[in-house]
Amino acid sequence: MKAIRFHQHGGIDQLRYEEAPDPKPGPGEVLVRVKACALNYLDLWERRGLPGIRIPLPHISGSDVSGVIEAAGVGVSNLKPGDKTLVCPGLSCMLCEFCLQGKDNLCRSYSVLGYYTDGGYAEFLKVPAVNALPFPEGLEYIDAAAIPLVFMTAWHMLVDRCGIKAGEDVLVLGAGSGVGSAAIQIAKFFRARVIATAGSDAKLGKARELGADVVINHSRQKIRDEVKQATGKRGVDIVFEHVGASTWEDSVSCLAHHGRLVTCGATTGYDVRLDIRHLFAKQITLLGSYMGSKYELIEVLKLVKAGHFRPVVSSVFPLKDAARAQEQMENREQFGKIVLALD
Ligand SMILES: [Zn+2]
Repeated sequence: MKAIRFHQHGGIDQLRYEEAPDPKPGPGEVLVRVKACALNYLDLWERRGLPGIRIPLPHISGSDVSGVIEAAGVGVSNLKPGDKTLVCPGLSCMLCEFCLQGKDNLCRSYSVLGYYTDGGYAEFLKVPAVNALPFPEGLEYIDAAAIPLVFMTAWHMLVDRCGIKAGEDVLVLGAGSGVGSAAIQIAKFFRARVIATAGSDAKLGKARELGADVVINHSRQKIRDEVKQATGKRGVDIVFEHVGASTWEDSVSCLAHHGRLVTCGATTGYDVRLDIRHLFAKQITLLGSYMGSKYELIEVLKLVKAGHFRPVVSSVFPLKDAARAQEQMENREQFGKIVLALD
């Protein structure tokens, strides 16, 4: 099959469009013919390499896949060739206490599709049959692939970790990212007031279209000053963080008393400073979050079907142009998801 692989860590020039062995589905697995695969920031970390993390090389990235079942392995009875599917990107043991509670993203063996295993930057992908969810009918393959990782992540952050409530003020950083564009929609669904930040007025216009009530252009406005003004100096109830070092101090200072900061990522760096006097005196809560459960994805898909959420696709590239697609993500040119499309 054709695939985009890297044989060593490094820059975008390491991505090669080349022939790779066809995956063979084992017992309990299915082979998916990939129709679309959305990019995530994780793909960039994988390609660059992280200290202490050994990704098998050569490697195929890609966590968000929609496609068609091509073949089913031994013991798979619920799926057959020709079925359309949307792949849940969370891989777990399905046997431990957390998996059995439906909290599979807490499983000790949890991993993201395309991280340690080969992903969807390819014509074919093998996944456990339990990850091949029914396709959300009414959507195109490209739009469907734009949903799973960012929506399940944003849902887990706001609903499970923060317990978002109607009327709360939520600061969504990086509204132009996939996870930011999902967070705005989820916060509005729960009737919160959304303050969104982005680095360009064009992105802020799109954030408003998704429901953002107040927008801040962080390239020319100070986030903490604008948040103070928008909240009458009170601060926000929830800060939705995924940016890391460059925004962290602003994020903490924007919290109201008893506010909570939830974070799922650190695209600008993970080494941050915390003055613990703010933590105890303002009685704030710092919450970590990682992906979301398979059940949370199923909940999100119900709400997509009901018309409450829509996938936000920024641009589409053919598989062979994955390097250009990653370059666009590195330059933060997108609003929403960048998707690779296959014939
Ligand atoms: Zn488990």
